[in-house]
Amino acid sequence: MASELGLYDLAKYPFLPEAGEYVRSHGLSVGALAQPDYHAILERATQRVMEAARGKDPSEEVDEKDILSFAVSILLVKATKLDHLLSRFALTEAIRVEKLLSKEKPWMIERIVEASTSIDVSQANLELAGRPLEFKVPVSEYLKRAPKFSSDKWRLLNQIVDGGYVFLTRPDLIRLFREEISKTIYARAKSVSVPKLPDALEKIVNEIVEATPTPKRLEYERGRKPEDYPPCIVHLLESQSKSENIPHFGRFFMATYLLNVGKTVDEVVEMHKTVPDFDERVARYQVEHIAGLRGGRTKYKVPTCRTVISHGMCYKHPIYCYNIRSPLQYPSKYSAKLLRGKRKEKAGKE
Ligand code: SF4
Repeated sequence: MASELGLYDLAKYPFLPEAGEYVRSHGLSVGALAQPDYHAILERATQRVMEAARGKDPSEEVDEKDILSFAVSILLVKATKLDHLLSRFALTEAIRVEKLLSKEKPWMIERIVEASTSIDVSQANLELAGRPLEFKVPVSEYLKRAPKFSSDKWRLLNQIVDGGYVFLTRPDLIRLFREEISKTIYARAKSVSVPKLPDALEKIVNEIVEATPTPKRLEYERGRKPEDYPPCIVHLLESQSKSENIPHFGRFFMATYLLNVGKTVDEVVEMHKTVPDFDERVARYQVEHIAGLRGGRTKYKVPTCRTVISHGMCYKHPIYCYNIRSPLQYPSKYSAKLLRGKRKEKAGKE
């Protein structure tokens, strides 16, 4: 059963309209933010924005001052006039929300999803083979979102459907609506206008701008290493190494990608050798055709993410694939540094 939201709940989910009302009722003025009374809030808001700017994992620690610190962090982000930081901030905040929701009471999950999507989510309390199916969503809403996921598990055929609803586990429900939570935060922040800030805040804004990496387009990077291949390609290569049958589009997609990141025709043909129906002559002809060495001598372009999704072969990573249109743009311009940091950390432990 739904309950009233307390201040701690609003601090966890400060993009909710109730949190906005709290901020308005507090009568917070921009001029006051430079005063010592607001020092802790300003510090926390700066930390929030810096987490986003530096691509760090958002912390899950929350206290009541975070209702205000969220509002102040939006002011700081908007004052930088960096739209890529705004996107990154929305994503970082959405990841924090996702982590918090995974431990949340069911009625709260319902409420957050409804606030971000206006979709009627209900608690279901079913259990199937030991899997708790805690929620249900209308089939029409499920079908608007699930086709983005390539794994078979998201097919409607593989879901429990009854009375016009799809029954879902908690992680699947949160996964289904993840991007919309990020978009809600982005839209909320985008609509805020920033007045003239006191000098002390301007100084912080300048520090944030300096700490925010300039977005780079990573398209067409020759000589890319396998650890930089996107999840869709990694998945296809794994299937191939296990001698699984790969549909025609998958082979075409893999070949265009590998040729575009610097593999030779010989190397791509060699990589195909594990497929069950391998015929070197046919494979070589096809790869040479894709490379533009035969026929009309046109080198084929790598399919876009949208095309890969439509073929059910996308294994989108929520951060590294964020906002990219082509597998050649992986990792996304915001996350390349984060990915490198994680690799270094892993290498240090080994
Ligand atoms: S979003 Fe694009 S790059 Fe990422 S897994 Fe899907 S198709 Fe591949």
